[in-house]
Amino acid sequence: MAFDSLSEKLQNIFKNLRGKGRLSEADVKAALKEVKLALLEADVNFKVVKQFIKSVEERAIGQDVMSSLTPGQMVIKIVNEEMVSLMGSETTEIALKPGSEITVIMMAGLQGAGKTTTTAKLAGKFKAKGRKPLLVACDVYRPAAIEQLTINGNKQGVEVFSMGTNQKPVDIAKAAIAHAKNNDFNTVILDTAGRLHVDEDMMNELIDIKANVSVDQTILVVDSMTGQDAVNVASSFNEKVGIDGVILTKLDGDTRGGAALSIKAVTGKPILYVGMGEKLSDLEQFYPDRMASRILGMGDVLTLIEKAEAQLDADKAKAMEEKLKKAEFDFNDFLEYMGQIKNMGGISSIMSMMPGLSGQMKNVSIDDDEAEKNMRRTESIIYSMTKAERSNPDILNPSRKNRIARGAGVDIADVNRLVKQFEQMKKMMKQMPGMMKGAKKGRFKL
Ligand code: GDP
Repeated sequence: MAFDSLSEKLQNIFKNLRGKGRLSEADVKAALKEVKLALLEADVNFKVVKQFIKSVEERAIGQDVMSSLTPGQMVIKIVNEEMVSLMGSETTEIALKPGSEITVIMMAGLQGAGKTTTTAKLAGKFKAKGRKPLLVACDVYRPAAIEQLTINGNKQGVEVFSMGTNQKPVDIAKAAIAHAKNNDFNTVILDTAGRLHVDEDMMNELIDIKANVSVDQTILVVDSMTGQDAVNVASSFNEKVGIDGVILTKLDGDTRGGAALSIKAVTGKPILYVGMGEKLSDLEQFYPDRMASRILGMGDVLTLIEKAEAQLDADKAKAMEEKLKKAEFDFNDFLEYMGQIKNMGGISSIMSMMPGLSGQMKNVSIDDDEAEKNMRRTESIIYSMTKAERSNPDILNPSRKNRIARGAGVDIADVNRLVKQFEQMKKMMKQMPGMMKGAKKGRFKL
C-alpha cells in the first residue's frame, strides 16, 4: 500500500515520543534525526528534507504545549502541519472555462508513466462533473497507444478523436478543436506521445503544440514508483514546456512516497490527482491534509489534536465573549478578531453565516480581495500603535494618530476611519452574541 514503509517508520518514532510526559530539546532533536532518515529512505528530495526538518525543529523547540496534549503529540501535530504545507496545503482544481467555452488540456509524460490510462480516467471525472470531454489521440508514433485510448475512451463513454499516424500532432490538435467547436464538446484532452526518457524531440513537439494551439492547462503524468526520477522529470518538463500541475500515478504500489512529498516543493506545481490502481475509476483528487494523515497513519492522534484545537478555539471565543459583555474590547482583540475572520474564509462568507444578515446581504457584493487589502492596511495601522494605544483607544489624540499614520504609511484619514469602524464594530458585536455561538461550534479557527 501507498507509503507503508514510511508510515511504519514514522509511527515507531512517534510511539517513543508519545509516552513521554516532558520532552527535552535533545529528545526532539533525536526524534527529528530519525524522521530525517525515514524521509530520505522514502526518497524525498534531500533539500526538501533539510528544510522540512528545520521548520519542524524551529516550531517544536520552545513551543507552548496545549494543555490537553502531551509534548510528543505536539511534535506530531507540527510534523503533520508541515507535511500538509509541503504538499501544497490546498487542493488544486483543474481550472475549466465555464459553459460551452472550450478548455484545452494537454497531457504529457514519459512512456509507461500511465499517461494514456490517466487521460481516460480524467475524462471520466470531467464527464461525471457534467462536462463534455473529447479525447484526442496525438501520439502518432505508436498505433497501440491510439488503440488503447480508443478502448479506454469507449469504456468511459467518451468520444475519441483520431487521425491515424500520418498527421502531425499539432494538426491533429487543431482539427480536434474544430471538431469540438462544431459538436458542442467543451473539454478537449490531448494525449501526446511519450518517450522512454526526457528527450528534445518530445519536448519540442509539446512546445510546438503549445505555440500553435491555445492550450489552457498542461498536465504532466509521472510515475510515483520512480521516486526522485519523477521529481526530476517534472522539473525538466516544467522548465522546458511549462506545466500547470502533476498527476502522480501508481501511488497504490509506492511504499515510499518520496515523489508525493517532493514534487510541489521542488517544482512549485501542485499535484492535482493521484492514480491508485489500474481500473479507470482509480483516480483520486489530491488532498494534502488527507495524504499527510495517511502518511503519518495516526488517525487517533490527529483526531485528538483536532479536538484540542477546537477546545482552544472555544476557550478563546468564550474569553472574547466575556470581554465583549464587559465592553472591554480593544485593538488587540480587534487584531485577533481579524485573524479569525481571515480563517473563516473572508468577510463575505461570514456575512452569509450571520443569522438575519444573509438576507439583507443578498444584493450586496463583497470583493474579498479588496476586503483583504483593507484588512492588511488595518493590521499595519494597529501594528503602528503603541501597547498603551492598542489597549486604551480613548487616548488616540490627533498627534498620536498622525504618528500612527506615518508609521503605517497611510493617511490620517485612514486612521480616523479605522477608529470610527472600531467604535461601530464594538457596538455591533455587543448586539451579536449569535456570532460567538457560531464560534463555539468550531467554525472559528485560530
Ligand atoms: P503511457 O505509456 O504513459 O500512456 O502509460 P499507460 O497508460 O499505457 O500505462 C502503463 C501501465 O501502467 C499500464 O499497465 C497501466 O495499467 C498502469 N497504470 C497506470 N496508472 C496506474 C495506477 O495508478 N496504478 C497502477 N497500479 N497502475 C497504473
